[in-house]
Amino acid sequence: MKALQERIRQQGEVLSASVLKVDSFINHQVDPVLAMEIGQAFAEHFQGQGITKVLTVEASGIHFAMAAALALKVPFVYAKKKKAVTQNEEVYAAPVYSFTRQETYQISVSKRYLDGNDRILIVDDFLATGAALLGLKEIISNAGAHLVGVGAVIEKSFQEGRRKLEEAGVYVHSLARIQSMSPEEIVFIDEAAAPKETASV
Ligand code: 5GP
Repeated sequence: MKALQERIRQQGEVLSASVLKVDSFINHQVDPVLAMEIGQAFAEHFQGQGITKVLTVEASGIHFAMAAALALKVPFVYAKKKKAVTQNEEVYAAPVYSFTRQETYQISVSKRYLDGNDRILIVDDFLATGAALLGLKEIISNAGAHLVGVGAVIEKSFQEGRRKLEEAGVYVHSLARIQSMSPEEIVFIDEAAAPKETASV
């Protein structure tokens, strides 16, 4: 998705070899127009596959899950990271190791909102180590639902997430795939694969 790649290039900050900060339009302040375009792109990619629900993890996947669910005209559900006092019903739960926070936490979804008839599209902001998405996959299989695929807004392809998900049989579609990044340059996979322009003489 070109508009997304341009935005990452203009406003993304490479904080270290593996951490990209996109707080000005994705993770803190949010550009709603771009978020809706992202949702539309996921919906177009996964349309016709009988998706009944979009699933994400709070908090940074919520706006993209909402945009995709709106375009697909299905509900979205977000896994919670902490048990709320109102959450007294039974839950499906899975442990997740957080790459950014460097700690393990539990994600959970009420058993009321997933069942064996569901065909699920997972949407999230980043695909890095794949831990969060594998946790969601575990919840989906505990519910007996079917995982249609994963839509990641930004994939850091130099980390192991895609490989782990594919090894687990999960189809992955990412809108911006970062092959490499440094404070000076961010290289996306489609660009890396394209032949370089040669200067005319
Ligand atoms: P995972 O390692 O499980 O694939 O990533 C889990 C979550 O960590 C993502 O959903 C995202 O919220 C956060 N995350 C991972 N890598 C980055 C990054 O480079 N930048 C930011 N802002 N968040 C990240």
